[in-house]
Amino acid sequence: MPEYKNHSEKIHLIKSGLLSLKENITNFLNKIEQQKHLNAYNFVFDDCLTQADTIEEKIKSGTCGKLAGMVIAVKDVIAIKDKPLTCSSNILKNFVSIYNATVIQKLIDEDAIIIGKTNCDEFAMGSSNENSAFGFVRNPHDNERVPGGSSGGSAVAVAANLCDAALGSDTGGSIRQPAAFCGIYGLKPTYGLVSRYGLTAYASSFDTIGPLANNVEDLSLILETIAGYDEKDSTSYNNIPEKYTINNYENAPKLKIGLPKEYFGSGLNEEIKLAVLSITEKLRQNGFTITEISLPMTEYAISTYYILTTAEASSNLARYDGVKYGYRSQLKGDLSDMYINTRSEAFGHEVKNRIMLGTYVLSAGYYDAYYGKAQKVRRLFKNDFDNAFKSVDILITPTTPTTAFKIGEQTNDPLEMYLNDVYTTTANLAGIPGMNIPIGKDKKGLPIGMQLLANQFEEKKLLQLALYIQNKLLNNR
Ligand code: GLN
Repeated sequence: MPEYKNHSEKIHLIKSGLLSLKENITNFLNKIEQQKHLNAYNFVFDDCLTQADTIEEKIKSGTCGKLAGMVIAVKDVIAIKDKPLTCSSNILKNFVSIYNATVIQKLIDEDAIIIGKTNCDEFAMGSSNENSAFGFVRNPHDNERVPGGSSGGSAVAVAANLCDAALGSDTGGSIRQPAAFCGIYGLKPTYGLVSRYGLTAYASSFDTIGPLANNVEDLSLILETIAGYDEKDSTSYNNIPEKYTINNYENAPKLKIGLPKEYFGSGLNEEIKLAVLSITEKLRQNGFTITEISLPMTEYAISTYYILTTAEASSNLARYDGVKYGYRSQLKGDLSDMYINTRSEAFGHEVKNRIMLGTYVLSAGYYDAYYGKAQKVRRLFKNDFDNAFKSVDILITPTTPTTAFKIGEQTNDPLEMYLNDVYTTTANLAGIPGMNIPIGKDKKGLPIGMQLLANQFEEKKLLQLALYIQNKLLNNR
């Protein structure tokens, strides 16, 4: 089977008869079966094979959509009509969606092929994919380690070549952190750029949907497809999105780059620090301006994030009560017992933790001290970034403080687990876009990720710089 680097090469191979789409999909399905121990998929849609011939025909006759034949895996928190939507939770284990999320409809309209739903942390709450009713997911680079979370299954599906690309969701780092742990590209768009219609809500004012891929070109192509105003999402940005696909990286504008000093302090693994700084040094040698800047609010990110997101989660998850859909406890009792038993039996430990934490910070006596205060502090993160982007175009930081850790290593210490998100939650607090670039490996052979951050709606700058780094500075292709 001929190999391809990105989607345009795939199209070329199909057009010239060197690659059969049917064989390509069959190959993915076989690999998924062979790599079952990774546990990347909750559901595999073997019936997607039936689309192969029609789409191949369209490609050959030049009437196909932008993503024709791209084989995409979808995190199991996004609705696909007539397919299961479980959020990796027992409370939705038998739930089937009756409609398509807007992003899914857009993929289908452009002739993409959806191969399955990927495993994730329950309701996207977690940083290791260990909080899943379908069991944990293994990192393909070292099977004893976690893939990151919460979009762990999506990241593994891409990294282990079990699909061409995937969709994930990012509320505090859930696309970027697993992308970093698995050595792939992942992009969290500006809040509001991509419709959330059909994404199961975790923390609605933070949630975003974005792509994970093996290369910047495919990441851009998918973003271009899924971005745009949607009347079904009232927080969707009412403007025509840019064209994100670019070929000419050589003439990329020499952007001004900032290194926020708070992201390089204690707690950061030395090998990650050196790897990120060596890329910025190469950028400097190639004519980019690099300056150190300060984002003084950074130390408050984790506490602000976990107050606000748990508050929103406690409200969003109130709908799972066993009445209209989802799991219902069979224990005898009155209505209130039914609510309690249903939720006690079917939610996992971490989800319960967060519902309780969120209910607490919203309760009458504590609302002002926690939730109200955190809302005000959230604004200060935006101010921090606004200030930074007055003098620079892009910020470069590590994506995570460490590389992938061992399965079970952090499950007993939620605080340690939450610290994984220290560099990623700020982008969600401020609503700005961010992406992970895989820049190498540590001594143990585990992938190292570098994060790029830009101002709101400046995805194009992110992708331009990412393409330059991929093609010019990294020789891993
Ligand atoms: N790890 C973070 C959390 O557990 C981020 C999750 C996410 O982005 N969905 O909340």
